[in-house]
Amino acid sequence: MELIKTGGYMRIGFIGLGHMGSPMTKNIIKSGFDTVVFDLNEKAVSELVALGASAAATPKELAQQVDVVITMLPGPAQVREVIAGPGGVLEGMKKGSTWIDMSTSSPGLGRELAPKIAAMGVGQLDAPVSGMAKGAISGTLQIFVGGDEDLYKQMLPVLEAMGDPARIFRIGPVGAGHTVKLILNLLWFEHAIAAAEAFVMGSLAGIDIDVLQKALVASPANSNFIEHDINSVFVGDYDESFAMRLVCKDLGLAVDMGRDLGVPVEMAALTEQVHRRAMRQYGENGGEMLAVKLYEDLMGIQLRAER
Ligand code: NAD
Repeated sequence: MELIKTGGYMRIGFIGLGHMGSPMTKNIIKSGFDTVVFDLNEKAVSELVALGASAAATPKELAQQVDVVITMLPGPAQVREVIAGPGGVLEGMKKGSTWIDMSTSSPGLGRELAPKIAAMGVGQLDAPVSGMAKGAISGTLQIFVGGDEDLYKQMLPVLEAMGDPARIFRIGPVGAGHTVKLILNLLWFEHAIAAAEAFVMGSLAGIDIDVLQKALVASPANSNFIEHDINSVFVGDYDESFAMRLVCKDLGLAVDMGRDLGVPVEMAALTEQVHRRAMRQYGENGGEMLAVKLYEDLMGIQLRAER
């Protein structure tokens, strides 16, 4: 694919300046890329403008000015609107430019838009991320890329501005990055519920939380969640940097994927329902670990330990 060559220099447009997109854009600016931004939230835009970005009035206007458009939006509905809706990115993109969708979105949407995008001579990658807001801030995100291999290699300097070079992988064709990201999140939230049941039971049975955690970490039942991520719950932090509305969106997309593939996904469906209950109980902007609090509240205890 022929790309706009600007002596190794690319102008970047970033759309979606939330918990993740804002720090990711800061890292792009820090890496020396000229950057244009768009978001419905004016405060988020002004913060980036103060750091040297310029603001566009619409996604179309942004696309007209850049070589690479990055989207980091809540989910498929917003991605569709911003990319293919009226005044959207596709109305402004130049031949030879590239769209990278870093949102956690549906593999099907990217594949649906692909023929139109290819006919315009525009490159397309999906590159969703893992690593939470702290990884976005430190520029050490893990990135799963779907799309053409040559295009992936050309976009590496942009991806490396946001992610850990050792943990940026090309997975396969367009849609493959989104697929792996949905599987990853599904497993992680399944672990969250499994760990909640285990620690609440252990605690009610009178076992010290530290002792239980140490025993499990040393056992074949260890997991990253039990060893590391649950520690924030032990200090009363349910991680508001990833909102429950986005958790439920991801789990819904994972269940949809199982349905599309004809795979029975009973655990996934149950995991989605438990998290929807947590969202109903604690609010859609509540933190991603609130499913653990459901079990704590149900049994009238708090899992707490010095960390
Ligand atoms: P967020 O809700 O904090 O930010 C989303 C941003 O998109 C907001 O600034 C919002 O104003 C903007 N937006 C929404 N609709 C828009 C539109 N039509 N036009 C322009 N801007 C619009 O979300 P986030 O936590 O930054 O997550 C972004 C994506 O990254 C989601 O797909 C999420 O699932 C994924 N993700 C999040 C995390 C995390 O820890 N927060 C980690 C990995 C992946």
